[in-house]
Amino acid sequence: MFDNKDISKTSLSSLGEFGLIDHLMDNVELKNTSSKKGVGDDAAVLDFNGEQTLVSTDFLIEGVHFDLSYMPLKHLGYKAIMVNLSDIYAMNAKATQVTVSIAVSNRFPLEALEELYSGIHLACKIYNVDLVGGDTTSSTSGLIISVTAVGHAKEEEVTYRSGAKPNDLLVVSGDLGAAYMGFQILEREKEVFKVNPNNQPDLSPYTYLLERQMKPEARKDIKELLNVLEVKPTSMIDISDGLSSETLHLCKHSNVGVNLFEDKIPLDPSMITVCEEFNLDSTTIALSGGEDYELLFTVDQKDFEKIKGNPNFSIIGHMKPESEGKHLITRGNQQIELTARGWNALQDEE
Ligand code: ADP
Ligand code: MG
Repeated sequence: MFDNKDISKTSLSSLGEFGLIDHLMDNVELKNTSSKKGVGDDAAVLDFNGEQTLVSTDFLIEGVHFDLSYMPLKHLGYKAIMVNLSDIYAMNAKATQVTVSIAVSNRFPLEALEELYSGIHLACKIYNVDLVGGDTTSSTSGLIISVTAVGHAKEEEVTYRSGAKPNDLLVVSGDLGAAYMGFQILEREKEVFKVNPNNQPDLSPYTYLLERQMKPEARKDIKELLNVLEVKPTSMIDISDGLSSETLHLCKHSNVGVNLFEDKIPLDPSMITVCEEFNLDSTTIALSGGEDYELLFTVDQKDFEKIKGNPNFSIIGHMKPESEGKHLITRGNQQIELTARGWNALQDEE
């Protein structure tokens, strides 16, 4: 009775994640005046008499987002919180509460869930966030974690994806691509382990990359830092999917173009070394790797002096009128169209 006999059904892959969300949310009207910003940014913005409340939610699914054969449960719990706080910080807001929901199969003993929650509690403690609720249910297959994060900010502090103007500088915190290369190393070691379970790999050269993958830190400090520097970003997003995809989101929501300079993209030396080891192009990885949880934002040109030379920030480009397009300027000074999967070296390899 459940056979799918209707060949006119549309495959989800033809829409893509963002096409699907747009399709499902098409013509949805916000009925309450308190719903200031609905779908389309890192977090929803609710306005209850002035002070703004931010809400964001994310899933982590076993086999899709994490692999328990190498991801310790404590780290997974920690990361689940980070992923969500990052979206609140991307709105230039303070995160204050989380709810955590889990669906779990009975193959997990109590001790496993204690491990998971030790990571969750540690993250909440370090980031000064309260765990205030959630839901627990059973799962027929893997582990599913859903976290909702709540934060607040003053109205004038909230930074949307939509505020960038032509000539604004494009700035990113930290460095990029390391989490993806950490993932590559874990996947490689998993394959080695399958063949030779007695092999004890020396992972010490990869400490930084593995940490970036297994214990990311959300950039709570950036809001405070920008406050001290007296810089208000004009737009902001966090980097979960890769620099190119997030840059294109800022462009789309702000109706601007961009010039992004390859030689300005911040890379950790160990990331470059491991890219060489894997025969991967480090720029492509920074553009398309994802899971960096750094913040990408734009600032007015007048703030150049305040940002320039700050070790936390790299100025990687500038915004342009939308009609001038979205480009990566390579080291060889070539202008390449910026696409959501980097500038196609990954596609070439596939
Ligand atoms: P992020 O990468 O910052 O977590 P996403 O790409 O997951 O953001 O989501 C983009 C926007 O779409 C967000 O505003 C999010 O709330 C919204 N969204 C995602 N999935 C759904 C859904 N199933 N229904 C309604 N809104 C959704
Ligand atoms: Mg985000």
